[in-house]
Formats: sequence, structure tokens, C-alpha cells
Amino acid sequence: MGGFVNFRCSYCKYEERDIGVGHGKSEFPFLALFRCDHCKSIGSTWVYQDRIPMCSICYHEEVRIVGPQTRTINCPRCGEPATLTPGDREWE
Ligand SMILES: [Zn+2]
Ligand SMILES: [Zn+2]
Repeated sequence: MGGFVNFRCSYCKYEERDIGVGHGKSEFPFLALFRCDHCKSIGSTWVYQDRIPMCSICYHEEVRIVGPQTRTINCPRCGEPATLTPGDREWE
């Protein structure tokens, strides 16, 4: 079952809301949170068993996949620690 996370940096005010993450009915593909240092964004991308995950915004291939339990992450825009908050909705 998938969920949503909200990203918020209190330093530069960069914010992304309702980022979909997690598994649907099968193990692969699943939506993973990523930080892209190329276009300086946070988002989620589909992870396939046999493919390199890409940034869903700029399609750069060197994204940093962030684990589902992660609650703090350095902001891609300003580099300061920012928070990830789980949303209260779910998807299947
Ligand atoms: Zn920031
Ligand atoms: Zn990118």
C-alpha cells in the first residue's frame, strides 16, 4: 500500500506536497522518494527491478533514492536539513 509524504524546508521555504510513495499491488515497480541534485528537486519516481531510477522531472539518472522511513533530508535547493512528513492518505 502506498502513501504520501510532504517535504518542507524551513530555511528556503521549498515545499513539495503529496508526493506519492510506496507499493501498489505488486512488489515492482514501486514509487520511491528521490532527491535530484541536478534539477534540485524532491519528488517520487517509479523504481523497476532492472532499470536505473530516473528523476521524474528532468530525467537525470543520478538521483538519490530516499528510504521510506527517512524523516530528515538535506534540502536540494539550500542544503539545510529539511523534514519529510508522512501524509494521512493512502493509495492502492
Ligand atoms: Zn531549502
Ligand atoms: Zn532532476
